[in-house]
Amino acid sequence: MYISPLLAWNSGDILKSLQLGGICSNHSCAICCKETKMMLSSEDVQVIIDCGYRKIDFCFVDEEGFTRLKNINGVCFFLRDNKCIIYSSRPQGCKFYPIIFDLDKNNAIVDPDCPLAKSISSKIASTFNNDLKKLIRKIIEERENSSEE
Ligand code: SF4
Repeated sequence: MYISPLLAWNSGDILKSLQLGGICSNHSCAICCKETKMMLSSEDVQVIIDCGYRKIDFCFVDEEGFTRLKNINGVCFFLRDNKCIIYSSRPQGCKFYPIIFDLDKNNAIVDPDCPLAKSISSKIASTFNNDLKKLIRKIIEERENSSEE
């Protein structure tokens, strides 16, 4: 377990390192990229297409009309050797991770599946409320617009 070397860090430092991918790659952790259900905005999709990927290969529209990353053999299409091959162009939701939006609580929370979840305070997570709400609102609006087409 790799929590102990980080005990001297504060919650904000840990989150920063997680979002830069430092802690994750140092410990070959890609739990969040396995069986991903990450929702994508049209902008996310376009950024990835601009990297040279075909939409049909990396995403699909679920039964509720949301566009999501595709898993291949249980891991995200973009995860190779435990690393994200589109890291700098990864979707917004991946950039916010391990902060996710809990629709029931209407609040940003730390994903309890992340091994470092307990090291990040809910206060830090809540600073992402507005940004995550904006992203979710955008994705929901895009779904509604596409169902009207
Ligand atoms: S796009 Fe990259 S960071 Fe996001 S789930 Fe896939 S492999 Fe992980």
